[in-house]
Amino acid sequence: MKYHQKIYTMNSSFLYHAWGVKGLKCTNVEYKSKTIILHVQSKSAQIVCPEFGCRKLVKNGHHVRRFIGLPIGGKKVILSMKVQRYKCKCEGCSHDRSEPIPFAIGQHSYTRRFARYVVDLLRGMTLKDTAELLGVSWDTVKEIHMSHLKRHYSPPPRL
Ligand SMILES: [Zn+2]
Repeated sequence: MKYHQKIYTMNSSFLYHAWGVKGLKCTNVEYKSKTIILHVQSKSAQIVCPEFGCRKLVKNGHHVRRFIGLPIGGKKVILSMKVQRYKCKCEGCSHDRSEPIPFAIGQHSYTRRFARYVVDLLRGMTLKDTAELLGVSWDTVKEIHMSHLKRHYSPPPRL
């Protein structure tokens, strides 16, 4: 059975301590059978342009990105983030980018904490069991594992 429920009071510091996401607020929570979807967005708008420190940033559209977060109560948790794009109106500044997402790695669709958790589980579990337990694809687990190995065990550069 599917049902939805709205909660407007999820605490930002709870978000931070549970999922390692800073400066976000939760605007809605969706409960599905095995998944909890937290709809999040930045608490405050970006004002200062990261390029030259100008202060003429304006909102320039947004998109939604989904990230797998640490599970809670045996359920998969998805952070569905409204990612704001900003354009700088200063003369000579061409800044026009989406806000940075420090809790994710590049374009990957999981949080840093989730990746760390996968690596921890893989110390004692197979890729397949880990994927099953977390409700994610084998490919996702494999990718996390490979990038962990690359980061920590890449051969030293040849001299
Ligand atoms: Zn600027």
